[in-house]
Amino acid sequence: MGHPLYQRRGAISYDSSDQTALYIRMLGDVRVRSQVGFEPERRSSHPYLCIDFRTLHTRLSCGSTSASSAPERRVHRLLSFQRYLHSSRLLRGVPQQIPLHILDEDYTGQARCMLEKVGTWNFDIFLFDRLTNGNSLVTLTFHLLNQYGLVELFQLDMVKLWRFLVMVQEDYHSDNPYHNAVHAADVTQAMYCYLREPMLAKSLTSYDILLGLVAAATHDLGHPGVNQPFLIKTDHYLATLYRNTSVLENHHWKSAVGLLRETGLFSHLPAEDSLNMERELGSLILATDISRQNEYLSRFRMHLDQENLCLSNASHRHFILQMALKCADICNPCRPWELSKQWSEKVTEEFFQQGDIEKKHKLEVSPLCDRETNTVGNIQIGFMTYVAEPLFAEWARFSDTRLSQTMLGHMGLNKASWGGLQQEQTSISEEAEPSTAGADTEDAAVAQMDGSRTAGGTSSKEIPQGNRES
Ligand SMILES: [Zn+2]
Repeated sequence: MGHPLYQRRGAISYDSSDQTALYIRMLGDVRVRSQVGFEPERRSSHPYLCIDFRTLHTRLSCGSTSASSAPERRVHRLLSFQRYLHSSRLLRGVPQQIPLHILDEDYTGQARCMLEKVGTWNFDIFLFDRLTNGNSLVTLTFHLLNQYGLVELFQLDMVKLWRFLVMVQEDYHSDNPYHNAVHAADVTQAMYCYLREPMLAKSLTSYDILLGLVAAATHDLGHPGVNQPFLIKTDHYLATLYRNTSVLENHHWKSAVGLLRETGLFSHLPAEDSLNMERELGSLILATDISRQNEYLSRFRMHLDQENLCLSNASHRHFILQMALKCADICNPCRPWELSKQWSEKVTEEFFQQGDIEKKHKLEVSPLCDRETNTVGNIQIGFMTYVAEPLFAEWARFSDTRLSQTMLGHMGLNKASWGGLQQEQTSISEEAEPSTAGADTEDAAVAQMDGSRTAGGTSSKEIPQGNRES
C-alpha cells in the first residue's frame, strides 16, 4: 500500500468493470518505472508468460540506431513540464498563443514555424519531434486543442490537460521502433488534416473535434510493440483480459480512460457526459483494429453507393470520425516518399523484432516478421495493395478533394518506388526467376494484424518469400 503508484492512483475510485484494466495499467507502470524485471501477477504453465517485451526490446535494440534513451527523454519531459508549471502567464488564463517556452530555446523559432503549417500534408513529424525535444505529441495536441478553442469551450483545466498529455506521451513506449509517441503525433496531425476537409469541417461539432483529436493522440497508448497473435499465443494477460478480441485496441482505450480519470480532465463535466465521451472514445479506438477493416469498408461503401450519409445525424458523424481515424492511422503510404519510407522502415523493424523474439523462444514466426525472408518493399507493396488502397479509394469518393488526390498520388509513387527497389535487389541478388511473392501477400498483410487467423498457427498460410535463398 505504501507503493507510490498505489498512492498515485489510490485516490480515484473506478467502477468495477474498469478495475481490472486499470490494475493492469498499474502493473505496466511498475515495470517501467521501477526498472526491475516484472513479476507476472498471474502465472500459468505456459513458459512464455514471463516474457517482458520491454527488456527484450531493449536488449535487441542495443547497438541499433535508437535516437535517445528512455531516461534521457523522460528528463527532457520533466523539465518541460516544470518550465510550464512555473510559467505564471499560462496559469493565469487561457493563452491565445502556443506556450512556446515549453520548447528548448534553440529550437523554439523553428518549431513555431512548423506549427504554423501544421495542416499541410508534407508536415515532417520527425523533424518536429527533434525540434520539440521528443515532445511532439504533447506540443502538437496541445496546440491543436487551443487553436480550435476547445480548451475554453469545454473549460478544460490547462494544468490537467497538460498533465494528461504528458502522461499519454510517456505511456507510449519510446523503445518501440514504430508504435511510439511519434506515431501517435503523426496520426493526430493527419487527423487534423482530415478534420479540416470541407465535408467534415462544415458538419462536425466541437465535441466531435475534441473527441477525434483525443482519440488520435491515444489510439495506440501502451502498445507493447508486438501484435495480437503474439499476445494470444504467449497467453499474455492482456489477451486473457480482453478475451482474444481487439486485445490491443481495448488496452489502448482502457489506458486512455485510466489517464482521463486519473487527471480528472473531464471531471467537471456531468458524469453522464464524461461517460459518453469515454464510450465514444472507445468506439473510435476500436475502429482502428485492422482485422475489422472489411466491416467498416463495406458499411462505408454502402453509404456511398446509396448516397445516404447525413452528417447532421450524430451517428453518421461518428462513423465518419471512425473512418477518418482509420485513414489517419494507416496513412504512412500516402505521405511523400522521404517520410513514408522512414515509417516503412520503422514498422518493418518492429515486425522483425517480434520475429526475433519468436525465434529466440522457439515460437512459430508470425507472417511478415522474419527478417531473413521479407523485405521492407514486399511488406509495403502488400500492405498498400490489400489494405491502404481500398480504404483511401473509398475515402476519396467520400471526400473528393485535392488532399485525397495528393494522398492517392503519393501512394502510387511510393508503391512504384518500392517496386523499383525490389527489382533492383532481385537482379542484384542473382539471376533467379521472378518472385512468386505476390500470391500470399494479402493473407500475410491482413494476418499480420489479425488475431483470429493466426492465433492457433493452424490456418495461416506460408508467408511470402520476398527473397529466395538459393
Ligand atoms: Zn496506430
